[in-house]
Amino acid sequence: MKKYFVLFLISASFLYALKNQTGFEARMKQMGLVNIQNLSQSILVDLKYSSEDNFMKKDVYGDLNSCFLQKEAADMLLNAEKNLKKQNKNYLFLVYDCARPRSVQEIMWEIVKDTPEKIYVANPKSGSIHNYGSAVDLTVVDEKGVPLDMGTPYDFFGDLAQPKYENKFLKEGKLTQKQIENRKILRKSMENAGFKNISNEWWHFDAFPRAITKKRFKIIE
Ligand SMILES: [Zn+2]
Repeated sequence: MKKYFVLFLISASFLYALKNQTGFEARMKQMGLVNIQNLSQSILVDLKYSSEDNFMKKDVYGDLNSCFLQKEAADMLLNAEKNLKKQNKNYLFLVYDCARPRSVQEIMWEIVKDTPEKIYVANPKSGSIHNYGSAVDLTVVDEKGVPLDMGTPYDFFGDLAQPKYENKFLKEGKLTQKQIENRKILRKSMENAGFKNISNEWWHFDAFPRAITKKRFKIIE
């Protein structure tokens, strides 16, 4: 009985929080963030948390439907796009996540905090670099709009998604050379533009280190 009551409280507070997810885009514009699709016509955006196609099976983004980034991070992404074109002129970026308000981070944390998945979601107390509009999650698609095979889908919770184990998984036959090469195309484009890939998600790139991010930008609540 107690368990059901706790579940009821969690879903009630969750629904309450969801109802209040409004005005995100206006707030981000006010804070000086930019919509990447106003700067590049060719960058594709499919915000997974703005749909039900995510690990929570819920749209937690409310009226946030666009990829907003700090202007400098957006400029870096435009350079990364040029680097991608140098490797293959038919390839395009497909962006899965950009600026993410901390209030959404709190909802995500509530959902995962008592599960093994919690290691994949930053605690809202310290915040994620996404909460500062300085991180981007993305992949590469071919001329037909099909994502390159990266060995796992986006938000795959497991070691196979972690770039730090690529050599091990290649030896074990769990990742192919081609899948690793595809990840390298993404990494090369992004890293040559100044982004840093994190060691446990092939899709996540930070524009600046955490300390610099916190010093320069305000958190998006
Ligand atoms: Zn990310």
